[in-house]
Amino acid sequence: MNLILLGAPGAGKGTQAVKIAQKHGIPHISTGDIFRKNIKEQTPIGVVAKSYIDKGQLVPDEVTVEIVRLRLMEEDAQKGFLLDGFPRNIEQAKALDKFASVDTVINIDVRLDALCERICGRRVCGKCGKSFHITTMTSEFCDECGEKLIHRDDDQPETVNARLAVYAKSTQPLIDYYKEQGKLESVDGMKKIDEVFEEISKVLSK
Ligand code: AMP
Repeated sequence: MNLILLGAPGAGKGTQAVKIAQKHGIPHISTGDIFRKNIKEQTPIGVVAKSYIDKGQLVPDEVTVEIVRLRLMEEDAQKGFLLDGFPRNIEQAKALDKFASVDTVINIDVRLDALCERICGRRVCGKCGKSFHITTMTSEFCDECGEKLIHRDDDQPETVNARLAVYAKSTQPLIDYYKEQGKLESVDGMKKIDEVFEEISKVLSK
């Protein structure tokens, strides 16, 4: 099963991706997570990525596409994969078409006005990446691994606006791109986490 999760920043892609990957036994490949790991380890890719991520811009396609191409060649991705945060523009989608086939694209649909509130209030585990929200979290530490929760630099309001603008201009056109290929399935991302997951599970069991 080769899947793509589409959706604006804050739509809940990361949260749903973990659940889908676990249920279907496929690797969850998040380009954002790969970049954050590289930034933490101060690799050359991390240094380049940070300069774009901090401004809410997309990391150049040459870098991003190559990272995904290499990741999909790994053993665990041969039985299927779930891409989260890639592709983010038509160029990346066309590049992906050259080295992988895609079965289904799940678009998590969330109203624009809800996105900013969701992202700005998001706190993530610095170790496992699990997401929390300031309105519902009960501790400053991750309930999975005990690590302190952090407010991502690119989740600050100024950067969030830039990221939403990039989404509208570059990523949203992918909805039509995959609709025309008959691969798009949209789910209502305004519902509760478990309800969204149920909707996704229904789509995938078709
Ligand atoms: P995410 O965790 O998916 O929201 O990604 C965080 C940031 O990493 C984005 O705002 C981009 O700067 C960068 N990034 C992640 N995925 C991509 C991609 N497919 N293409 C370019 N930049 C990306």
